[in-house]
Amino acid sequence: MRTPIIAGNWKMNKNPKETTEFVNAVKADLPASSKVESVIGAPAVDLQALLDAAKGSELKVAAENCYFEDEGAFTGETSPKVLSEMGVDYVIIGHSERRQYFKETDEDINKKAKAIFANNMLPIICCGETLEQREAGQTNDWVSGQITNALKGLSAEQVASLVIAYEPIWAIGTGKTASSDQAQEVCHVLRETVAKLYDQTTADKVRIQYGGSVKPANVKELMGKDDIDGGLVGGASLVPESFLELVKFNA
Ligand code: PEP
Repeated sequence: MRTPIIAGNWKMNKNPKETTEFVNAVKADLPASSKVESVIGAPAVDLQALLDAAKGSELKVAAENCYFEDEGAFTGETSPKVLSEMGVDYVIIGHSERRQYFKETDEDINKKAKAIFANNMLPIICCGETLEQREAGQTNDWVSGQITNALKGLSAEQVASLVIAYEPIWAIGTGKTASSDQAQEVCHVLRETVAKLYDQTTADKVRIQYGGSVKPANVKELMGKDDIDGGLVGGASLVPESFLELVKFNA
């Protein structure tokens, strides 16, 4: 009932030429977006190349961040209004790297989510715990709090349409994947959080991705879990062959 969504998160790793080459290598082989949504999240400087190359294909486009104001004196920021005008579909917000290195707060993320909806795009909202928090037994309360804060003031209809990405920080770029049971447990808690904040119908519709060292070798097992509807993938999304294996996990 929920369409799986596999999104690459390239981080700061490709230039426009490499972006075009990547899309040209994958675009004819992508699954129909009604079966699996294939998304690439790219740096702002690559988005025009990504959009141009992806035109007419099944590939959807995500920005890796945006600001919460449409325009004004915000040197160096990326306008959600302009992303929308360009044709961007999704914006990844609240990635742990942005929270850690750029001091993004839950309040910023909530404002960004509202700005993204106001501009007719959809947010992919990330949450996740540190290893210390996991070992202290704080994971469920922590991620549930992050998502509660991110969703403040959004309507049930908006929440049903967005994507949550559960990304344990200790599993990002480390080669350590959460076990499929660990990932399922937290994704279930996040769905229950949405049910408590809204209702079960909304919770049944929202898509929840797992992210953290997802690769072709583990994607099928993770996607087989009841509350995991997709993956947010860093390293393994950079190579065309491996991205294709990921989006075709159920082929
Ligand atoms: C990410 O970038 O969000 C991520 C999960 O990275 P990786 O797949 O490399 O762990």
